[in-house]
Amino acid sequence: MSKYDSMTQDPMLRPPAFLSNLPPGRREYRLAVALAAVSLLVFLIAAPFATTPLPKQWAFIPVYESALVINDLITSVLLFGQFLINRTRAMLVLVCAYAFTALMAAVHALSFPGLFGAQGVIGGDAQTTAWLYMFWHAGFPVLVMAYARLDGQIAAPLRRTMPLAIGSVVLGVLVIALLATLGEHTLLPSIMQGNGYSSIMRGVATSVWALSALALYSLWKRRTQSVLDMWLMVTMCSWLCDIGLSAVFNGGRFDLGFYAGRMFGLLAASFVLCVLLIENGWMYLRLLDTTRELQRLSTVDALTSIANRRAFDDALAGEWRRAIRNNTMLSLLLIDVDHFKLYNDHYGHVAGDECLKSVAGVLGRMAQRSGELAARYGGEEFAVLLPYLDMHEVLELAERIRSDLAELALPHAASRVGNKVTVSIGVASIRPASIQAEQGVLAGSGLTVDPVALVVAADEALYFAKEAGRNRVSVSGVTGDTALAA
Ligand code: GH3
Ligand code: MG
Ligand code: MG
Repeated sequence: MSKYDSMTQDPMLRPPAFLSNLPPGRREYRLAVALAAVSLLVFLIAAPFATTPLPKQWAFIPVYESALVINDLITSVLLFGQFLINRTRAMLVLVCAYAFTALMAAVHALSFPGLFGAQGVIGGDAQTTAWLYMFWHAGFPVLVMAYARLDGQIAAPLRRTMPLAIGSVVLGVLVIALLATLGEHTLLPSIMQGNGYSSIMRGVATSVWALSALALYSLWKRRTQSVLDMWLMVTMCSWLCDIGLSAVFNGGRFDLGFYAGRMFGLLAASFVLCVLLIENGWMYLRLLDTTRELQRLSTVDALTSIANRRAFDDALAGEWRRAIRNNTMLSLLLIDVDHFKLYNDHYGHVAGDECLKSVAGVLGRMAQRSGELAARYGGEEFAVLLPYLDMHEVLELAERIRSDLAELALPHAASRVGNKVTVSIGVASIRPASIQAEQGVLAGSGLTVDPVALVVAADEALYFAKEAGRNRVSVSGVTGDTALAA
């Protein structure tokens, strides 16, 4: 089973499809209608002059056919990307439809008499090229109709569907090419007389034209129309104008209808491609938004909206390295809500959650300067990381946190400290570079003292604060403790 098969079989892992299942927006719908209307208008203006002869521009043919081949191939590949996402048979048929037109455009160019040689590269003549055009312009709408009829059925695994899809397209193009070239090009009736059309041509061209109209109708009748369906309809409108001008209303090669029709053909090969390319840009934007949101969610505590433990650990490691580089102090406050279990037991967990949010709010307001971070360390314990401050400033801040919380006067009837919510705070302040020097870790050796040392020290101080009766600030160094009761 391929990576893509397993991805799409697990509904939890299945990524959302985009073009193929999104309904068109109002603005996009208006743009599509406007483009279809302009196409129709240009067609109506050009149709009466379709037989006007124009100069033979041979360079136009390879330029136009190359553009078609490239556009259709890229569209097919981009649609294949969509198929890997939604895995529907309908999308696979559309992938084949664009691959088919790309190959047919290439074969058509190779057969064009006088372009790469008098007989074309594959030994064609005027009949061959005209018939190839007809098969090409009949095949695409037939495949579009098949796409429109298939509704969301999931295709078989890739290893079965891909050889079948590629094989069918290549075989189909091969059979058509053989039909048009074998037997001295006599297998099919003549539809060209010199550069003009025979009477049979009218019937053939009208039938091919009708197939495009049918394809447009089947897209229109589709139960739920996606953005892709809408642009396919615009494509089929252009396709209708193409065939109408270059096979039904014109008189032969190199007249106004011939050139104008081919311009419509080029437009038809560009609509879905443009939409897919724009969609790709949007997808990158969405990916960026999602990544940013995931980054935010992975670093923010869901309950209190301050930094979570992961963000704290990262910040501690970063600030620790910075403190070593700059030979500065790094301080940590570990803050624990007093008798919080009793609070929960007395007021319930929902009220307990609200209390934790209030505590976090106070801490968040205190740690505002660059490098400072207030985080939920776990449960009812919080941490505040304070770079650059000296011990005096840190103790002042810790005391302010304790008193601000006390001033909030959140009732805690079950507390044994008083009747309000209080916190105990352990403070540790370390100059990491000095400790490294003390412990003989050579500068530049790549070895460092673990920042956990700071957490251990602050935890010890917190223990002292609890032991000394709670609702107080205690301080600790790494090598000795000085407990200051607040
Ligand atoms: P001490 O004064 O010694 O710190 O006692 P304490 O009761 O505060 O500490 P203890 O560790 O015994 O209990 C902590 C309580 O915090 C227990 C747990 O249910 C509660 N707690 C942890 N996380 C949450 C939370 O997200 N929401 C609520 N409501 N309670 C929580
Ligand atoms: Mg605790
Ligand atoms: Mg506690």
